[in-house]
Formats: sequence, C-alpha cells, structure tokens
Amino acid sequence: MLPGMSAKILDGKALSARVRADVRDRIRAAGRPVRLDAVLVGNDAAAELYAQSQARTCQEVGIEYRLHRLPTGSGFEDVAGRVLLLNEDEQVRAIMVHLPLPTGVDVERVQSLIDPDKDVEGVNPANIGNVVYGRRSLVPCTARAVLELVEGSGIQLRGANCVVVGASNIVGKPVAVLLMRHEATVTSANKHTRDMETIARHADVLVVAAGVPKLVTPSWIKPGAVVVDVGIHRLPGPDGATVISGDVDFASVSAAAGWITPVPGGVGPMTVAMLLRNVADACLR
Ligand code: NAD
Repeated sequence: MLPGMSAKILDGKALSARVRADVRDRIRAAGRPVRLDAVLVGNDAAAELYAQSQARTCQEVGIEYRLHRLPTGSGFEDVAGRVLLLNEDEQVRAIMVHLPLPTGVDVERVQSLIDPDKDVEGVNPANIGNVVYGRRSLVPCTARAVLELVEGSGIQLRGANCVVVGASNIVGKPVAVLLMRHEATVTSANKHTRDMETIARHADVLVVAAGVPKLVTPSWIKPGAVVVDVGIHRLPGPDGATVISGDVDFASVSAAAGWITPVPGGVGPMTVAMLLRNVADACLR
C-alpha cells in the first residue's frame, strides 16, 4: 500500500486472469471450436496493435482469431457487406468490428447491422436495449467489466447510492442500467450536471467515465466509497515519458476511498476479459 493510502485495490489484472482461466476451462470442457471473427478496415496503427494483442489473448484461452482485412478506401457498402456475410455464415458465432472506420462510414449504422446474437462487443442497439429489459444478451464489455469490479468489492448493491459520471451509449448508460438491475439507487451525471461534487459525495459507488483526466479529487468522495475509474489517458510525464492515468486522481483519492481501481490495471484488462467471456457465451450457448 502506498503512503497515505487507505483504499483497497480492485485489481483488474488479477480478476481478469481468473475470468480468462474460467473461459479457457469452459472452452476445453465444451470440446467445440470457438472463434472470434474481427473486421479491420485500413491500417490505423492503434487498431493494428489492438488486433495483434487480441489475437494473442484469444489464442491463450483457446479462441481461434480470424481477422478480415478491408482496404483503407473501403466505403459503407464494403464494410456492411462483410458484416452481412459474417452474419449469414453459420460457422461464425462471434463478430466484432475494429474502430476507427474510414471517414464517411457511419459507425453506428455498421454496428446496428451485426447480428445481435453474434455481437460480442454488445454495440448493436438491440443488445443495449436488452440490457434495459434484463433479457439474456451480450452486454457491452466495458459496462460488464465495471459491474464485475464493483462486485469484487463485496458491496451490497441493493439500496446502495451509485453515481455514474458520464452517460455515453457504450459505457455510462449501460453501467447505470446494470446498477439499476441490482436495485441500486442510481444517479446518471453528465457534463451539464450541476453540483457534481455534492452529488458524488453521496455515492457509495462512484463510477467515472467522463473522459477528463484527473477530474475526480478527494472532495468528490464519500469516505469508504467504491471508486471505479473507466477513463484512460496518455499524459506527458515529468521526464518526457508518457504516463497513463484515468479520470480519477488516484494518488489523492485512494486516501479517502474504501476501494479503488488503478489505471492501468483496472477496467482495461477486465474489458478484454469480458470480450473473451462474451465470445465464449456467443459460441457455446
Ligand atoms: P464519451 O466522450 O462518449 O462520453 C463522456 C461522457 O462524460 C458524456 O456523457 C459527458 O457528458 C460526460 N462528461 C464529460 N465531462 C464531464 C464532467 N466534467 N462532469 C460530468 N460528466 C462529464 O466517453 P466514453 O466513450 O464513455 O469514454 C469515457 C472514458 O472512458 C474515456 O477516457 C475513454 O477513453 C475511457 N474508456 C475506457 C475503456 C476501457 O476499457 N478502459 C473503454 C471505453 C472507454
């Protein structure tokens, strides 16, 4: 524990290792091939790196990874056409589309074409809707990661005050809905929210997905709260090196919180693990 720190760490790396082991065991026990089909358009360096690391992670748990590359100049029809082909292929049970897509290709339109039963990132609006209704569905990976981490603290969610800072379709909103499904009392906040700090100070669980580096300081924290930091930022460090930090000022907030996720090593690795779990769910059900 660091000096002045009282919070316990919600260790996304350790928890994700357990989830990955569980996925590997399920796949072995099922004795059936499990495969992820990913579409990558163009040659964006970050997407390329992500695809490479995804291929490795899949291989580690026994998931075959098939990357479908489309050239940089591809338009909506090309990307949509490939998604529709994958939808129709009975051998394909798990699909994801890497971002970014070329300028002019409507991401949401592409995502809404992915067969909801194969949509392992949970980006089709049908899957986000299913989250609201509590139907069996593929839940957006980051939202599912946040819930797993919150539950890792052992907190009783029923009746707990939960504040979700940020209300994007893919993170903040599904997190708020998943917390509601646990019968927590949920406040969804966004950049127009007034008295943000006062609202946050009532939170037994504070989830931060605002995309603003070090937004959350100790004055936001109810002593002992569970704090989950979804933000991820690459900032210039003191000696020119890059420092990775989140939406929460970890050093100061960890003196007040009861539980906290680090960045890196919190929500990030759990999001990857939840994708693998969604692939296993889609292929083995
Ligand atoms: P977004 O930009 O789509 O949405 C941000 C939300 O935060 C909006 O609702 C906005 O109103 C709200 N907001 C902005 N400033 C605020 C403020 N000062 N107070 C209260 N609310 C505020 O962002 P997103 O896609 O949900 O991502 C949020 C962060 O999470 C980013 O840093 C992103 O990089 C990170 N992220 C991490 C993972 C992961 O796996 N770790 C996955 C997805 C996103």
